[in-house]
Amino acid sequence: MIPILVVNRPGQLVSLRFIFNVGSTHERQDEHGIAHFVEHMAFTGTRAISTAHVAKEMARLGEFNAYTTYDRTVYYCTCLKENLFEAFELMVSMLFLQNDDRCPEIFQREKSVIGEEISSRADDGYTVGWDKMYEVYGGTVFHPVTGTAATVKAITEQQYKQFIQSNYHGGNLMIHVTGDVDTIEAVDDINESLEDLVTGQTNVIHQPNRVIAQPPIDVVHQNQQSSYMRFYELPGEPNESDRYVMLSALLGGGMHSMLFERIRNQLGLVYWVGAGQTQVGHQNGLFIGAKLAKDNITQLRTEIDQVLVGAVKNACGDLFDTTKKNVTFGFHQANDSLQGMEANNDAWWSVKQKAFDPQEYLAIVQGTSLSDMQGQLKEMLSHPCQELIVSN
Ligand SMILES: [Zn+2]
Repeated sequence: MIPILVVNRPGQLVSLRFIFNVGSTHERQDEHGIAHFVEHMAFTGTRAISTAHVAKEMARLGEFNAYTTYDRTVYYCTCLKENLFEAFELMVSMLFLQNDDRCPEIFQREKSVIGEEISSRADDGYTVGWDKMYEVYGGTVFHPVTGTAATVKAITEQQYKQFIQSNYHGGNLMIHVTGDVDTIEAVDDINESLEDLVTGQTNVIHQPNRVIAQPPIDVVHQNQQSSYMRFYELPGEPNESDRYVMLSALLGGGMHSMLFERIRNQLGLVYWVGAGQTQVGHQNGLFIGAKLAKDNITQLRTEIDQVLVGAVKNACGDLFDTTKKNVTFGFHQANDSLQGMEANNDAWWSVKQKAFDPQEYLAIVQGTSLSDMQGQLKEMLSHPCQELIVSN
């Protein structure tokens, strides 16, 4: 049985997601970039259904897109409620007729589209920095999702077909519907339509060997703008990252956050600074990132330390007002994401290990007190962080 999660939400629009338990960490050494390549190919039709037809149908029915990460490939669409079934059928034909004969020209053309994507990624120092951070935490298992120009060029039709066969099946799939739909009916319809889908073995997610507490990693990048990032480990399973949502909002979740107010607004040190809860190599944690001029990096590091230490010390003192503002902000942010159609966009882990429950999430947000955040922050600062500097 394919796990199907239906989240009821009022409104005209519904959102549909096909989440495959396959990403770049499941690729073999000689096929880096293939998961993302398959994602691209899904939008190009088959010999039976032309690329133009797929594009026309997508435009008629709603908004379709997809992305590939280290551990999953997600195809999604937002459409009018009355178009849900048609949109679903279109997705099914795009995803499961993929192994049909392809025109060799399309196969080659998509490789050059990805080539462009790879070179624009390489232009962005911040992205390059994140790729490196993943590699540090996860080893080469966490190679960049896109692969390199050379590995993508080398993908053969045989490998492509093989990859789809071993990964695009019922055992690796979960479906998620959000909107004003009858849950039982939706589940029945999906099951009926995917009756013939073969169920294979579920992919195992690689647990990387972590290498932590290195001195700052320097990445040389020919760019006028430099990037700085640091990553702190936080305890708990990756699916428990929700509990840090308030801490990350307080520190760096937006324009009222402590980091932004102090470092960007008062000191004018950076173009941008932010923080958030995340997983790097499946390790739960908090990242802090900034884009700035190279000359400001040293001072930035000191200021971040001061903000963090100050937040621990004064959680109930003079930061209280700021904190309150941030708590309100974080709360709104969480509320917004619950209201949005794309709620739990990225909640593969939550979905996989416990059905995502918006109420439960809200309860975590509402139940996080100042002293909880202070405790989390103390715990976080008791471990060394990994820093990374991208500059020319
Ligand atoms: Zn792409």
